Amino acid sequence: MPERVVVVGGGYAGLAAIGELRRVPASYLEIYLIDAVHGHELIPELPEALRENDPIEEHIVPFAEILQDSEVKHIRERVSDVSVQQRQVTTTTGTLIDYDWLVLSPGSSPAYPPIPGLETHALPMRNAHDTFKIKERLKSHRGQRVVVVGGGLTGTEVAGVLAFDHDVWLVEGMSRLLPALGRGLATYARDRLRAAGVTVMLGQKLLRVDHKALKLERDELHYDVLVWAGGIQAPDWLKDTDIPIKHSGYPDVSALGQISERIFAAGDVWRVYTDGGEVPQTAQLASMAGKYVGGNLLRVIRRQPLLPAFQPRLRGMLISLDPGVGVGWVLRGGIPVRGGSARALKELSFHQYRLKLSRVFGHGWPFPSISE
Ligand SMILES: Cc1cc2nc3c(=O)[nH]c(=O)nc-3n(C[C@H](O)[C@H](O)[C@H](O)COP(=O)(O)OP(=O)(O)OC[C@H]3O[C@@H](n4cnc5c(N)ncnc54)[C@H](O)[C@@H]3O)c2cc1C
Repeated sequence: MPERVVVVGGGYAGLAAIGELRRVPASYLEIYLIDAVHGHELIPELPEALRENDPIEEHIVPFAEILQDSEVKHIRERVSDVSVQQRQVTTTTGTLIDYDWLVLSPGSSPAYPPIPGLETHALPMRNAHDTFKIKERLKSHRGQRVVVVGGGLTGTEVAGVLAFDHDVWLVEGMSRLLPALGRGLATYARDRLRAAGVTVMLGQKLLRVDHKALKLERDELHYDVLVWAGGIQAPDWLKDTDIPIKHSGYPDVSALGQISERIFAAGDVWRVYTDGGEVPQTAQLASMAGKYVGGNLLRVIRRQPLLPAFQPRLRGMLISLDPGVGVGWVLRGGIPVRGGSARALKELSFHQYRLKLSRVFGHGWPFPSISE
């Protein structure tokens, strides 16, 4: 009887783990991917899909295509519980799936601080479904005011993409944008956004959201569409499982990627710390972590020594601003890049990821060029 690995979530981490696990013949290891959606969502590309002429579907690769030449079975269900004790996964339809080994990679959810009206009125931007909902609202509010709250990576990109067609306001509680980048790059991003027509409001916290209006510490703003990009948290349902959860709400994961002997975590749910502090939760980190835990899981199964503790070294971080312009850093030493070169490198990273997918799974999904 083959041993069974269940992978919860076919995002950047889950697919990278599957890429490793597939090295073992299916007669020894059967792999189930449980994911609630039909395809792998290329989330870093999704801000581009907010443009009217950029279909969201071009940024989703169907699991049926990715897995067509493999023995991996995709179960399209939403997981609602994982039992460490029973070695079982439960889905929202009540289906029970046993596992010998589990990779937990369901990504993250939007975090809503207790601000009255926020969750009711604001639209999050985490996945293709959210992108679709924002796009629908933009259609009926063409040329009107879009307020984006949160000046991190997601909020800054969304504001930049929408600036061309809408009256965009970007609101951030801190005195600067993009805490993940150096001050000089963050100032560049702010100035570029302003030049593209975005009103950037810094240093004002959001206090209350009503239908069509929001209250900040000093100002009140009218909005037609409100996008919330104010942070992420671990998926809520994890709290109701017997997985050990830390104070932060995230699972307690060892430096080897293990939650327990038989459960591994990867991607946004695994908050990774190195000597330099917490590593930002990105697709790049998720891919690296997925590959790492896939490799470690295989070693546990083969009773081989585990890999050394996970020490990711990011290759760069790039953010799109207005069309044709980006900002960020590349290479491990952190070389700053801005302008057209940063944008071109970001687009290159999209191509590279798709190429990597095709190398691992044997098909090609070329990137629809965004500069066309
Ligand atoms: C708008 C935006 C832009 C971004 N831009 C960048 C960028 O430019 N570069 C970068 O490196 N990172 C970027 N990120 C961050 C990056 O997308 C995430 O860090 C990355 O996707 C995390 O990978 P993951 O595999 O952990 O989760 P995901 O890629 O989110 O995949 C999780 C998968 O799990 C599935 N799932 C979730 N819950 C369940 C459940 N209960 N049952 C079954 N299936 C479930 C989901 O359907 C999904 O397929 C961006 C994020 C956003 C929101």
